[in-house]
Amino acid sequence: AQAIGASPSEIYFTSGGTESDNWAIEGLAAAFPEKRHLLVSSIEHPALLSSVERLRSRGYEITYLSADEAGFVSPEEVAKALREDTLLVSVMLANNEVGTIQPLKEIARESHRFGALVHTDAVQAVGSIPVDVRDLDVDLLSLSSHKFYGPKGAGVLYVKKGTRIKGFMLGGEQERSLRGGTYNVPAIVGMGRAIEIAVSDMEKNVEYVTQLKYRFFRRVFDEIEYVVWNGGEPSLPGTVNFSFLGVKNADLLSALDQAGVEASSGSACSSGSVEPSHVLRAMGLSKEILSSALRFSFGRENTPEDVDRAVDLLKIILARLRKDEDLFLPKKTKKYDL
Ligand code: PLP
Repeated sequence: AQAIGASPSEIYFTSGGTESDNWAIEGLAAAFPEKRHLLVSSIEHPALLSSVERLRSRGYEITYLSADEAGFVSPEEVAKALREDTLLVSVMLANNEVGTIQPLKEIARESHRFGALVHTDAVQAVGSIPVDVRDLDVDLLSLSSHKFYGPKGAGVLYVKKGTRIKGFMLGGEQERSLRGGTYNVPAIVGMGRAIEIAVSDMEKNVEYVTQLKYRFFRRVFDEIEYVVWNGGEPSLPGTVNFSFLGVKNADLLSALDQAGVEASSGSACSSGSVEPSHVLRAMGLSKEILSSALRFSFGRENTPEDVDRAVDLLKIILARLRKDEDLFLPKKTKKYDL
């Protein structure tokens, strides 16, 4: 509760981000049967998108908010799409594929003016950047333990005091009868300790991880040709997404993997898939950019040497993979300015 500026009675333990997202959607829909319109960003995690799609199959109307080329949702678009019967606006605080931090305060302000509730999937943000539910003025927030080095299988749904919501996991009387099921005590205790550590070292970690990301940025842009940065600032300290034009991300990914560098071609949860990322597609990027995009993540346990090794390997692998394709590459790359 302290880590996100909430009070303990507003914290509900769950099995993780997926359950928290599912509960937010189903729990509000059940509590407000008269409101049947939801506004959701198109760059949400599948845990959220699948939940709203299930509502759609039950007759709800869903408006998907677009993202711009840099991966941001616009508060103006939210304001235009709000309706009298809008139950909920759900926009993630930080995106898991491109790292962009959304203008959530402005989105919440617009939404509340229309009487809509606001949920945010803050799974990528909590533990990485300061998060305060009162400052953001959100009604519900999902977080997940393993994103801040806690045990897997624990998470939280924050529900602002006084918000009407129905239970999703029904059973015993745990969590004020709103989330039945015997507690996973070791995971919950671990989550508590992990967030304590993350929050107490927050400033230092943000600075350290940001410097790693910038080092990666500078070297990639200075030393590798035909690179496009998919994203914009503000963004998470440790997340960056690049397209290396002229190569297929699956080829690059497996060559990096064999060399001991783990990147991702979409969200981690779909790393086995070769489908283009729905997030990059929602940003309206070209096919060439989609098929060559890779996400790199840095954490507090990485070192500048890790970054250098990744760039050195990228250069070698790209030189090999691009050998036959150079002639067809477009001669433009997106500039960066940090
Ligand atoms: N939401 C976002 C933005 C995520 O990145 C993830 C996990 O990758 C989830 C939700 C799902 O969380 P969990 O793995 O705890 O179910």
